[in-house]
Amino acid sequence: MKIKAALAREINQLTIEEIELDPPKADEVLVRMQAAGVCHSDLHTYRGELRARPPLVLGHEGAGIVEAVGENVTRIKPGDHIGVNWLPACETCPTCLSGRYNLCERFADTTFKAMLLDGTSRLRTRDGLTLKHMLSSATMSEYIVINEASAIPIPEDVPFEVAAVIGCAVATGVGAVINTAQARPGLPAAVIGCGGIGLSAIQGCKLIGCNPIIAVDVMDSKLEFARQLGATHTINAKETDVVEALQELARRGPEYVFDSVGSAATISQALQAARPGGTAVIVGLHAFQVDAPISSATLVLQNKRLLGSFVGSIRPRLDLPMLVELYRAGKLQLDELITKRYPLDDLPQAFDDMEAGKIARGVLVFNQ
Ligand SMILES: [Zn+2]
Ligand SMILES: [Zn+2]
Repeated sequence: MKIKAALAREINQLTIEEIELDPPKADEVLVRMQAAGVCHSDLHTYRGELRARPPLVLGHEGAGIVEAVGENVTRIKPGDHIGVNWLPACETCPTCLSGRYNLCERFADTTFKAMLLDGTSRLRTRDGLTLKHMLSSATMSEYIVINEASAIPIPEDVPFEVAAVIGCAVATGVGAVINTAQARPGLPAAVIGCGGIGLSAIQGCKLIGCNPIIAVDVMDSKLEFARQLGATHTINAKETDVVEALQELARRGPEYVFDSVGSAATISQALQAARPGGTAVIVGLHAFQVDAPISSATLVLQNKRLLGSFVGSIRPRLDLPMLVELYRAGKLQLDELITKRYPLDDLPQAFDDMEAGKIARGVLVFNQ
């Protein structure tokens, strides 16, 4: 079928054009998209900075309505509302069985190569160029074909935009707090970087009952979003020494420091700022490869923990529905996280607004 999608034919070449989508094969579903979140990873991908390279269709956060299902699909039926899970774990490999579903062994040859789970693609341009599916999902498209494992049913009262952002930014930010750090209430926490992931981490800290919750960013506009979503204090890293300020606001430093930026500078700051015995969690991926200096004196003599968190250490089929329920219970302010909606054609504007710090989270909406 003919569909309109946002794609990168080559590195740094973003176009919105009509392409061809093949029907779902066995274990796959066809979804009519309603919303797709705009994430920094999409930007890094079309610029060729992450593992999967163009040509590909962008997008990995999304939600929509199931239109058709292929053979052997048992958990999903046409008409179901679903959120996209871009970590379609096999749930049978030793890594999955150890509870590390976010690190499933099959991702290396499928999801991270931007292919569907059988290693092939259903997408091509009208001039015959095969396009990959970013993170096995390619959500910036009017219709998508995904594996059944990539579709998480959601209740019909949950807005599609909310379901879209739960699948990446919210899972990553909230998951880092509750799964990776296993944060405890009443302790001070800091979050470096206040984009979609950082703002979600702030909400995770609020949910757990951390106090104070200190937000760090270089843009005052983002610090304002942070305050609205649960930060009790803010630090503009352009004006203040972050480590000193954090150690002043929380005695000897925060118990937990979440770095949603992932640059060499912020990784060191997170580790330095955490209190003795405290935990620094690196959540953001600034580029595929960043080498940061780690002080052994800080790590060993102060008995700190330095943890990496990939998509909030989530177990997608358990944790994505849990996050949906936390939203429905009013515990996560996700309507407030979504500050602007765009038609698919305005994706370049959405990327610009994201980089300029004008929006907390932008979402593409499909009126179909
Ligand atoms: Zn993302
Ligand atoms: Zn697995």
